[in-house]
Amino acid sequence: MKKIVIIGGGFAGVNLAKRLGGKKEFHITVVDRNNYNFFPPLLYQVATGYLETSNISYPFRRLFRSGKNISFHMGEFEKLIAPENKIILSTGDLPYDYLVFATGAETNYFGMENVKKSALPMKTINDALELRNHLLQKMEEATRTKDESERKKLLTTVIAGGGPTGVEISGMLAEMKKNVLPRDYPEISGHGYESHIYLIDAQDKVLAPMSKKSQSDTFNALTKLGVEIKFGLQVKDYIDDVVSFANGETIETKTLVWAAGVTASVFNGIPEENYGRGRRLIVNEFNEVKGLQNVFAIGDTCLQTTDKQFPNGHPQLAQVAIQQGQQLAKNFIAVESGKTRRPFSYFDKGSMAIIGWNKAVVDIPKPLLHFKGFIAWFIWIFVHLVSLINYRNRIRTLYNWTSAYYSKDQTLRLIIRPKQ
Ligand SMILES: Cc1cc2nc3c(=O)[nH]c(=O)nc-3n(C[C@H](O)[C@H](O)[C@H](O)COP(=O)(O)OP(=O)(O)OC[C@H]3O[C@@H](n4cnc5c(N)ncnc54)[C@H](O)[C@@H]3O)c2cc1C
Repeated sequence: MKKIVIIGGGFAGVNLAKRLGGKKEFHITVVDRNNYNFFPPLLYQVATGYLETSNISYPFRRLFRSGKNISFHMGEFEKLIAPENKIILSTGDLPYDYLVFATGAETNYFGMENVKKSALPMKTINDALELRNHLLQKMEEATRTKDESERKKLLTTVIAGGGPTGVEISGMLAEMKKNVLPRDYPEISGHGYESHIYLIDAQDKVLAPMSKKSQSDTFNALTKLGVEIKFGLQVKDYIDDVVSFANGETIETKTLVWAAGVTASVFNGIPEENYGRGRRLIVNEFNEVKGLQNVFAIGDTCLQTTDKQFPNGHPQLAQVAIQQGQQLAKNFIAVESGKTRRPFSYFDKGSMAIIGWNKAVVDIPKPLLHFKGFIAWFIWIFVHLVSLINYRNRIRTLYNWTSAYYSKDQTLRLIIRPKQ
C-alpha cells in the first residue's frame, strides 16, 4: 500500500481522499488542524446569525468512518523533511510515499499590524463566531450609551474588500438592519441615530472577476439596500477606532471586517524559490511541487500556470480545488495501474454571489449567460445546498433558510464566548 498523506481537509483534500477511498493500493491519512471540515462560502451566514456552525461543518472522523483505507490525524503541519519522506506535525511525525499540500489560503493583512490586531477576518469558523459575537456585542453597547459619537462608531461597520465575501456580508448586514433592528432593538431603531454600512474597495468595482453586468447589478442592489459603497480607498491603518485610507480619508468605527485579501502559507522545509505569486507553491501540470519528489499541492495553496486558459494561475475558488483533488486522485490511480497521467485543466462552471433576499448575480461562461434577481438567487441557493458535504447539513441549512426567508428573521443571534 502506498502511504498518501494529505495536509488539509478542505475542498481539495477531501475530494482527493474520497476519490481514493476503498482503493486497496493506497492508505490515506488526512491531517488537519481542526477536527472538522467546513464550507467557507457560507461562513458569513454564521457570522450574521442565519446559520449554525454545525450546518456548514462536519467532523472528519465521521466523514471518513466508512472509508477503511482513510485515517484522520489532527495536527498542524510544522516541517517537511523531504530526504526522509517524512513530515513533522505539532502532534507527531508521519512518513509518506506521496505528500499532498491542500492547506488553502490565509488572511492577508499586507503587513498592517494594527489591522491584523483589531480588524475581524472571515476565513475560519472561529472568525465567523468572533464576528457574530462582536456585532451583537456592539449592538448591545449601542442600546446603552448616551454618547452620540460613541453610538455612531458602534453603529458603523466598514467592510474592506468588494469581492464575494465583502458583498455578501454587507448585503446580509443591510438586510438585518432593515428586518431585525426594528424588532429586536427598539432602543436604537426609529430614533434617527446615525448608522452606516460601508463597503470599500481599492479598485473601482465590486466583484472584480465577474461580468460587468454582475458588477453593476450588485452595485445597484447593494446601494438600494442602503450599503454605502466607496471605491478607490486603500486601507492604511486601523487604530483607536479610526480606519485611515491612503488618500487621507478616515472613517470612525468599532467594526472593521477584513475581506480584502488572502495569501498562501510558507512551509518549513520547502525552499523559497518554490513559491510564486501570493506565496503559492509552484506546481507542474500534474500538481507536483517544483523541485521536490513525490510532493504535490492542490487548491488555493498552489500556483499552476500550465493550463492554457489560465496562464497566470487559477482563481482561488472552490471548484478549482475540487477538480484538482479529483484529478490528482485519478493520476495516482493511473500511475499504480501503469497508465498515463492527465494534465490538469480547469472546467469553469461559472461564478455567483448573493446580495440579499431574492437578490443575487450569476455568470455562466459557456454559453455566456447572466442572471440576476430572484432566478439568480434561486440558482445560488440550489448550488450552495447541493455543495454542502452531506444530506444532514443540506436539510438543516434548508430548514434554517426557509424559516429565515418567511420570517425575515432568525433566532441564532447568540453571544457565546468560550472562557478565555
Ligand atoms: C469567506 C469565504 C467565502 C468564499 N466564497 C466562495 C464562493 O462563494 N465560491 C467559491 O468558489 N469560493 C469561495 N471561497 C474560496 C474557497 O473557499 C476556496 O477557494 C477553497 O476553500 C479552497 O479549497 P482548499 O481545499 O484549497 O482550501 P480550504 O478549503 O481552505 O482548506 C484548507 C484546509 O487546510 C487546513 N490547514 C491549513 N493549514 C494547515 C496546517 N498548517 N496544518 C494542518 N491543517 C491546515 C485548514 O484547517 C482547512 O481545513 C470563499 C472563501 C472564503 C474564506
